[in-house]
Amino acid sequence: MESRIERIKQQLHSASYKLTPQREATVRVLLEHEEDHLSAEDVYLLVKEKSPEIGLATVYRTLELLTELKIVDKINFGDGVSRYDLRQEGAAHFHHHLVCMECGSVDEIQEDLLEDVEEIVEKQWNFKIKDHRLTFHGICHRCQDKEDKQ
Ligand SMILES: [Zn+2]
Ligand SMILES: [Zn+2]
Ligand SMILES: [Zn+2]
Repeated sequence: MESRIERIKQQLHSASYKLTPQREATVRVLLEHEEDHLSAEDVYLLVKEKSPEIGLATVYRTLELLTELKIVDKINFGDGVSRYDLRQEGAAHFHHHLVCMECGSVDEIQEDLLEDVEEIVEKQWNFKIKDHRLTFHGICHRCQDKEDKQ
């Protein structure tokens, strides 16, 4: 945790930003809830528990800054809510998501798995791929287990 904060601090510094206490509080919440795909409001409510003096606008600006610096990715699972997702350190491309249509859970696939597809796209469309968003919609293994038992 501390070493990741230290690295995020360096990323901010190399873009001439400081890790202010407000920014640090926001980063800590994101790290503590790494797999939760929090909205700006979710992040704000969690930040407020520890630092009641921080306002929504500050949290929002911090999230935008972290997005700009590619420390977090902003995603939308089709419900109109922007969610913030920490980027895996050293990952060239964004991870994939499995969204369950029954319980709404979101699981992650950290492996890229798209090398072959990317090669085809780059060749056939002469398109240089920098990143991608991939969301699978379906039924998670937990919901499948429940159905099997019924
Ligand atoms: Zn994710
Ligand atoms: Zn990729
Ligand atoms: Zn499910």
